Amino acid sequence: MSTTEPMPPTHTEAARTDGLTEALERVLPGLESFLRFEQNSGAARRSVWLPQIEEPLPAEGVGADEVLRLLDEVVIANGLPIGHPGFTGWVTVAPTTITATAALVGAFTAPQRWWVHPANSIEDLATRWLRDLLTLPPNFQGVFVSGGAVANLVGLAAARQHAGERLGIDISRDGIGAVPSPRIYATTQVHDVIGRAAGILGIGRDNVHYVDVDDARRPNLDALRQAIDEDIAAGRTPVAVVASAGDVNTGLVDPIDEMRTIAHDRGIWFHADGAYGALGILDERVRHLYGDFAQIDSLAVDPHKWLATPVGTGAAFVRDADILGRALTVHRGDYAQFQPTTGPDPGSPFDELGVGSPDFGVDFSTPSRGLAVWALLKEVGASGIRARIGKDLDCARRVADHARREPDLELLAEPVLSICCFRFRPDGWADDAAIDALNDDIVHAVRARGRAIPSTTRVRGHNAIRPCFINPRGGLIDADALVDEVLTVGRALVRDGRTG
Ligand SMILES: *Cc1c(COP(=O)(O)O)cnc(C)c1O
Repeated sequence: MSTTEPMPPTHTEAARTDGLTEALERVLPGLESFLRFEQNSGAARRSVWLPQIEEPLPAEGVGADEVLRLLDEVVIANGLPIGHPGFTGWVTVAPTTITATAALVGAFTAPQRWWVHPANSIEDLATRWLRDLLTLPPNFQGVFVSGGAVANLVGLAAARQHAGERLGIDISRDGIGAVPSPRIYATTQVHDVIGRAAGILGIGRDNVHYVDVDDARRPNLDALRQAIDEDIAAGRTPVAVVASAGDVNTGLVDPIDEMRTIAHDRGIWFHADGAYGALGILDERVRHLYGDFAQIDSLAVDPHKWLATPVGTGAAFVRDADILGRALTVHRGDYAQFQPTTGPDPGSPFDELGVGSPDFGVDFSTPSRGLAVWALLKEVGASGIRARIGKDLDCARRVADHARREPDLELLAEPVLSICCFRFRPDGWADDAAIDALNDDIVHAVRARGRAIPSTTRVRGHNAIRPCFINPRGGLIDADALVDEVLTVGRALVRDGRTG
């Protein structure tokens, strides 16, 4: 046996537990190349790569080398390039280098966030830093969760607890049946996860009252007041008023102060869904839209959006930590009882829980998600985040300027945050269905060309091209390129005989 041969296994474990450097070195060149986004954005078709992975459960494993080969040649080579500088399609983005590295480090060193280890304290620190970044007061309790959907659920669970306690009822203990006809109020722009949270919390999807918005996308606040007052008069139970602090369609911020005042005047919880847009508060141009932000009761914000951490990182902030704890309290079984050792430090990191509480979220076992947030804030500071937000707001305004100037473009919604909704509309075209179809075709063709990858939405009944600028790899050049692509493709379609 030569000395270069690997050590024989000492037990029967089949999964590799050594050789991390070697494993990473196998995939890193491919990942680096992927992150240069040199290929066409379309990657390979599913028909090409699916046959390479679809198979019945293997009775015997193929070993680490073959898995690393598949990761490299199939998964990485055909990855979804949402980090491409021209990608403006979604409100989620590819992580930056250090946030993704922090998540990998956390996977090994901090696999359970509750115990005593650096990432446990960092998690707590990161909630406080993020809270400060958002200009929320120190009494707000933050918790990292898996995303905006769960962050909204956590905020609304606290709201539900608050509504019950006003009636002397502990809903998390006694159930929602103990309160009469609970209701949530939001605008029609609110994200769909609010309705699902209402379902999960036993409030009921149909018991979310959606207030209409006008053409300027302002909610009808009289209708909001009236709906709440009618419900109160009828003996129903208002649970929360929910505002979007950045809606995903057009990047609008609801009138936060006014909606909060309507809620608070009636003793109702006010929740802001800032999963995408809460960090817009860092930009002086739109700061005022967030009003007296310190007065909100709860907030959802997604570090995996504007902070570009790996997906799976949301955060909820709740003003009253006690209500949050009572809303999500988890009974601890005998196996999870801890007798802290005396003195400032535990004898072993397994003898004492660290900071934070599983009573503030819906996870029990959870990764140390805050590690990536801390890493980013430490890396670039508040000024780095502010610069990113400012650059992205600039990009949306740049597209709007083009749309105002170019005779073939029409601005459909003035940008508020970093989304700009516009469409290609050739001079003289009046048939809305034809313009809609043309814009659909333009977006598909633009995406296939791979230089700019926007998405679409509907604005005031029209198909809109909807770039959302949130990509740390993108900038003004990419905003210009998107407009250039839309004009090039649109004009070519018209030259080829499209009419409308
Ligand atoms: C993204 C988003 C959500 C959903 O968050 P996930 O992270 O996808 O779970 C909810 N509300 C708003 C405003 C969002 O932007």
